[in-house]
Amino acid sequence: MGGVNQIVLAEPRGFCAGVDRAIEIVERALAKFGAPIYVRHEIVHNTYVVNELKAKGAVFIEDLAEVPPGATLVFSAHGVSKAVEAEAQARGFSIFDATCPLVTKVHVEVAKLAREGYEFIMIGHKGHPEVEGTMGQLDHGIHLVEDVEDVAKVQPAQTEKLAVVTQTTLSVDDAAEIAAAVRTRFPKVREPKQQDICYATQNRQDAVKLLSPQVDIVIVVGSPTSSNSNRLRELAERLGTPAHMVDSAAELKAEWFEGRARVGLTAGASAPEVLVAEVIERIRALGAVSVRSMPGIEEKTKFPLPKGLRLDDIPPPQHIS
Ligand code: SF4
Repeated sequence: MGGVNQIVLAEPRGFCAGVDRAIEIVERALAKFGAPIYVRHEIVHNTYVVNELKAKGAVFIEDLAEVPPGATLVFSAHGVSKAVEAEAQARGFSIFDATCPLVTKVHVEVAKLAREGYEFIMIGHKGHPEVEGTMGQLDHGIHLVEDVEDVAKVQPAQTEKLAVVTQTTLSVDDAAEIAAAVRTRFPKVREPKQQDICYATQNRQDAVKLLSPQVDIVIVVGSPTSSNSNRLRELAERLGTPAHMVDSAAELKAEWFEGRARVGLTAGASAPEVLVAEVIERIRALGAVSVRSMPGIEEKTKFPLPKGLRLDDIPPPQHIS
C-alpha cells in the first residue's frame, strides 16, 4: 500500500480579520499597559494562541469577580451579553472590546429590531459564548434553535414580528436548512439582508468543498472548542473524505495516512499559520514530496483597532501569525 505523497493547501485558511484584530488588541494592551491584562474567555478558541498570550502576561478568566479593581479587561472575539458588559463597567475596569465587528453587527441588528417589537429565532450552538453574548443582548424574546427538530418546538409569544439571527460560524448548508424550516413554520419571518454567517466561515467552507474531492484525507488545524474548525472537518466528511482535526502537529497519527497519497490541509479561522507549517513538516516526514495551494479567494478584510490602542507610540508588538 502506498503512502502519502502530496499536500494540497486550502485557500483561504486560518486567521480571519476578526481573530487578527482580537489578538492584536491583547498584544497592544500588553505593550501599552504592561502585564497582567485580563481577558474574559479565551480571546479566540485556539490553544496555541492562548498559551502564547499567557506567556506574555495575559490572564484568561471566565468570572469577572476574578479580576482585581482597576485592571484592564479585554472581551473576547465572541462578544458578551449586556449583563457582562454592565458588570464590567460597574466594577470600574478599563475595557477593550475585542468582539469581532461582524458579531457586533448582529448585536446591533438585534437591538434595533427589538425596539421595533421583534422576537427572534437564533440559529446556533447552545453554550457557545457567541450565542450567549447575542442572546444576552435582550432580557427575553430570543429563542435558540440548534437543528430542524428544534424549529418545530419553538414557542414565540407572537408570529407577526419574528426575525432570524444566526451564529457567525455555522455550517452554511445546515443553517440554510434550518432557516428554510423556520420559513415554512413562520412564513412572515424576517431574515437578515445579508446572512449573519461571516465571510471567513463561508470562504473556508467553500475552499473545503473545492479541496475535498481532490484529496484522500483532510486535516483541519483547529482547537476542539473552535466552532468554525469543527464545521470544516464535518464538511469534508460529509463530502466523503475522511477528515481529522488536530490542535497541533503532535496529534497527527501515522496510520491516518496509510494508503492515502493526497492530503488536503486547512485551518480554522482561529488557527495560526505557524501550526499549519508544523503540520506540513510532520506530513513531509511521513513521505510527502510536494506541497501545492488550491486557487482561492484572496481576503482583504481588515478591521480597525479600538480607540486607545491605535496610537503610533505603542511599539508594534511581535504578532502571532
Ligand atoms: S470567524 Fe468571522 S465572526 Fe468570527 S472572528 Fe472571524 S470574521 Fe469575525
